[in-house]
Amino acid sequence: MKRLLILLAAFAIHPATSQTVHILPPLPYATDALEPVMSRETVELHHGKHVQTYVDNLNRLIPGTPYAEATLEEITMTADGAVFNNGAQILNHIIFFDGFAPEGSGPDKPTGALGMAIERDFGSFAAFQSKFNEAATAQFGSGWAWLVSDPDGRLVIVTTSNADNPLRDGLTPILGIDVWEHSYYVDYRNRRADYLAAIWRIIDWDTVGHRYEER
Ligand code: MN
Repeated sequence: MKRLLILLAAFAIHPATSQTVHILPPLPYATDALEPVMSRETVELHHGKHVQTYVDNLNRLIPGTPYAEATLEEITMTADGAVFNNGAQILNHIIFFDGFAPEGSGPDKPTGALGMAIERDFGSFAAFQSKFNEAATAQFGSGWAWLVSDPDGRLVIVTTSNADNPLRDGLTPILGIDVWEHSYYVDYRNRRADYLAAIWRIIDWDTVGHRYEER
């Protein structure tokens, strides 16, 4: 499962203490590779500062707790409070940043099983995009918009607040878009709708499609 392989790459075991040490996975592209949709400044701040802070916080919080050796997925599904907030935000951002590729480097819409499932469950790719952006725009305050699969493979659009992740509701994230202000304010100021209109140009449909096939 690709999703699990990503998570395996997100931590290491400290050789002296056998403590899990979470690490920030490197981006699969250069920090300026998503321009002009997402600027280098945004990627460096968002990935290099915001997400790194969640990683540092989690590593400081978990020693001596039941989560000392837990995976990010386990933390996301079972923790609460600060451990949940920091752990889930790392997982959310891995899904987010791993789901992008430089504009024009791959298919501009989903193909294969995901493409067929989107047509089946939303009518068309354009109808799905419109419904997704409507939900993401309407999410009040900080949070996320998700394309998720239910256990039967049906696709649904959901939004979550703050650090919450659909895994807690038994749903598998296929695509996750951050609508916290830090994800778009540098490039789009307060215009969340403009950010959401542009973001489709950098979605990596190969990676996102694999998540659906291997869910
Ligand atoms: Mn973020």
